[in-house]
Amino acid sequence: MTILKRVFVFILFAVCYIPPILYASASLMQKDERFVRAFERTTAKLLQVSSGKDFKLKAMNDSLEKTGKAAKSLLLQGADLEEAVQMAKEAQWDYSENSFAMLVEALALDQQGRPEAVQSFQDYLEQSEHHNRFETQFLNSVNFHEMRRGVMAYLESQGIHPMFSKKRFSLRHEVDQWMQNPIAKYSNLIVLTLLGGSLSLFLFGTFRKLWKRYRPLEKGFVRCKHCQTVVSKLMLECLNCRSKI
Ligand SMILES: [Zn+2]
Repeated sequence: MTILKRVFVFILFAVCYIPPILYASASLMQKDERFVRAFERTTAKLLQVSSGKDFKLKAMNDSLEKTGKAAKSLLLQGADLEEAVQMAKEAQWDYSENSFAMLVEALALDQQGRPEAVQSFQDYLEQSEHHNRFETQFLNSVNFHEMRRGVMAYLESQGIHPMFSKKRFSLRHEVDQWMQNPIAKYSNLIVLTLLGGSLSLFLFGTFRKLWKRYRPLEKGFVRCKHCQTVVSKLMLECLNCRSKI
């Protein structure tokens, strides 16, 4: 097998490695009633405020309206969660300081069991650290703190401590979390074994090739420049490829 083929096999293994579903635990909306109540109260107030279009800037009103639609759909059965994600994203494009829209996006991802939700929750916590004027129109400080608490507790239940690390992504936590699930644990062990096996085969093969090419020669022998075959110094041409020595 040539080195290239080995590399190809190795890459094939790496690409086939599709991470199994990390965890299938309950979403934040299913888990934390206090959070859901704060979210419902905030959404109700937001819908009331957005119908008035009270902001001077159109972008702010648009942002609020889209956030309201997306947030409302999260509270309904059988909502189109992908649409909610898009809507919440657009609300953030309209007005970037709308951290409630970030929360709505994170919740919609979380409801779908998508791992990006973790990052979105962390972005939300970072962005919402200061209760800004835009939000005070519909978000009172009780609900504000209740929702932040809910998100933090939820992340912590997954082994992520947003307040203790400024890191946006922690590989160690991801791995810890990953290994907690029994199904993930075994499927990952198999995948890791296969990956480890192919990696060692690859390294072994490469090492053997390099050894063949560069190992020190005994006296009276030379290496063919073209095919690396070791031949006697007395030879005029390589036994293997017939090129001049
Ligand atoms: Zn040769």
